[in-house]
Amino acid sequence: MSFALASAILRSIGPVARSHELCARGVSKRELARAHRSGEILKIRQGVYAALGTSDELIHAAEHGGSPGCVTAGRLHGLWMLDDDDCPQLHVWLGHAAQRHGCSRPDCATGMRVHWDDGRAGLGALPPVRNVLVQIAMCMGEEPFFIAFESALRQNKLRHSDPEWLRRRLPETMRWMIPFARADADSGLESLIRLRMYRVGVTMRSQVRIDGVGEVDFVVGDRLIVEADGKENHDDDRSRPGPFISRRHKDLVRDANAAALGYETLRFDYALIVHDWPTVEAAILAKVAAGAHLRGSLRPVAG
Ligand SMILES: [Zn+2]
Ligand SMILES: [Zn+2]
Repeated sequence: MSFALASAILRSIGPVARSHELCARGVSKRELARAHRSGEILKIRQGVYAALGTSDELIHAAEHGGSPGCVTAGRLHGLWMLDDDDCPQLHVWLGHAAQRHGCSRPDCATGMRVHWDDGRAGLGALPPVRNVLVQIAMCMGEEPFFIAFESALRQNKLRHSDPEWLRRRLPETMRWMIPFARADADSGLESLIRLRMYRVGVTMRSQVRIDGVGEVDFVVGDRLIVEADGKENHDDDRSRPGPFISRRHKDLVRDANAAALGYETLRFDYALIVHDWPTVEAAILAKVAAGAHLRGSLRPVAG
């Protein structure tokens, strides 16, 4: 009689599988019970098993009979999420055919968000990125959606037809963001700045190469540079060989070179952009109101 190890089969088809799927591949009921008893596999609920090392989000979603969804799945897909979008609780996708199971985690009942939108939620698998984006749009709103969408474009995680598929499923008020989104944002901070400034009537060119300066995040008008410094940008890397040059020093050199060419630079960090947006917006709007973005008597020197 053939004999298949439950842990090996789970690793090959899993990481989460139902007992009938394992049995169909030669795992006997006795072997399932033995593997569970000996700690080689995890039992999620009656008839559902997981391989050791399966992420807690996948296990928790499977306890409820679905897969991670929305921001939980977005994070697992590697899409950008601002910390403030974080919800400590699980966002789970049950799809159209699933029924919701309970779990025994004490902190779950109050905060779990359930998504029932169309599609088949597979145990142990993430929904396709395009489904995750619709879930984020409906659950978290415009900005988290836009950031995640630009991130998916940047990381090539969407098929050619997906933007149109998305556009048809978004609320009408959010559809304009599909053609507005770009695939070259370097971070969620950049997506957020461009979106918020567009809303107040300021158009920004992204990823602009300036001879003598390098590539800057944004240019407003002719000569106002706006840079978004991510969390990591000012973590000085002292592990590299050679003389130590701080990130801040490099930024100062860059800003000085830009100034010599007739540009002005506004530089904002994560804390300002995410936690003190009014200050950022006021600074950019004041410069624009004063005409600092327009080429005046101070002409940029061609590089
Ligand atoms: Zn959600
Ligand atoms: Zn739960």
